Amino acid sequence: MKVSPEIAALKPYVPGKPIEETQREFGLKDVIKLASNENPLGVSPRVAEALKLALTDLHRYPDAGAVQLIQAGSQAWSVPAENLAVGNGSNELIDLLIRIYCEPGDAILTFQHAFVAYPVCAQAARARVIEVPTGPDFQMSLSTLAEKLRKDRGTQKIRLVCLANPNNPTGVLIPWSEISVFLKEFGNDPDLLIVFDEAYVEYVTSKDYRPMIQEFRHWNSVVVLRTLSKAYGLAGLRVGFLAGPLSVVDLVNRVRNPFNVNSLAQVAAIAALQDPEFVQRGVELNTKERAWVAGQLQSMGLKVIESQANFVLFDSKKSVKALNQRLLSRGLILRPVLNYGLDGFVRMSIGTHEENAKALQILGEVLNEGVAANGDGVR
Ligand SMILES: *Cc1c(COP(=O)(O)O)cnc(C)c1O
Repeated sequence: MKVSPEIAALKPYVPGKPIEETQREFGLKDVIKLASNENPLGVSPRVAEALKLALTDLHRYPDAGAVQLIQAGSQAWSVPAENLAVGNGSNELIDLLIRIYCEPGDAILTFQHAFVAYPVCAQAARARVIEVPTGPDFQMSLSTLAEKLRKDRGTQKIRLVCLANPNNPTGVLIPWSEISVFLKEFGNDPDLLIVFDEAYVEYVTSKDYRPMIQEFRHWNSVVVLRTLSKAYGLAGLRVGFLAGPLSVVDLVNRVRNPFNVNSLAQVAAIAALQDPEFVQRGVELNTKERAWVAGQLQSMGLKVIESQANFVLFDSKKSVKALNQRLLSRGLILRPVLNYGLDGFVRMSIGTHEENAKALQILGEVLNEGVAANGDGVR
């Protein structure tokens, strides 16, 4: 049967290479994975405890309303429960927002090199993607985006503005000083929804930032996405939150699958949200190691993009395909970001100090041995 050209042209998501696959392929025992921005400290011990107790109830359906989970989110972030909805990871919430608000041919507006879920979900919903170019070092200028929005909405139905802040894969942050100006003009626009995807917000150390989960209620057209996949260490269980106006929460709850967050995920997420000290430990480790890793990469002569997240993006100036194969053969999984149109660039998640030190050693050795330069045609 024929499908739409947008669906036919969809490319499968390229995840970080799994550890087991790398071990098998290269006959290795020790493999370090710093490719998917996961929490190097694992999960809170409270999560493991809570999961054990939940195993006796697996024959029951999950709570479709995720009432206790939403309560836990409400308490953790001081947001009214009625303003929260949950998703199977925040990825599902991105997908739902686009399906809810975009009809085929409508558009979403985002930055160049933004999180890949936006264009993929848009394409699946036959929505168009308008990309605003980033500036030097991948800076995202909201005044440039506002200009584009004013200009293009005359001819296109732009429904969503999708902002990953900080952005993945660049780690770049849009400062609050720019956001506040942007929201004065568009924060209550009745034909627009501005989505702040705060997947890495826990790791932000810049003084010029206000978590949008504390701010969204001042506007009618702002929603915030949070995930438990990064700082809370629950990537494998798939839990995300949306915070937004009641009208948005209501629509998400009507369109989503009623059991989108399974019962183990709900139990684990509640325990994780109730252990802020665990998150804090991970954040402190990240702040320290992020600065150290960036400094080490720079001292290897590599250009590093300043990051406010739990990873750093650097320019290897090499053919990343060739570089990556060499790193994998030495037991190091990093993330080439060719799928973001960033040739030569590699994203390295921040691990434990031991992992980071070992990773930098391997990277240094491989670069010293020599790898084909970027643009040599080795792709
Ligand atoms: C990792 C990430 C997410 C989280 O996705 P989940 O589906 O919640 O695991 C969302 N947005 C960005 C920008 C990310 O990098």
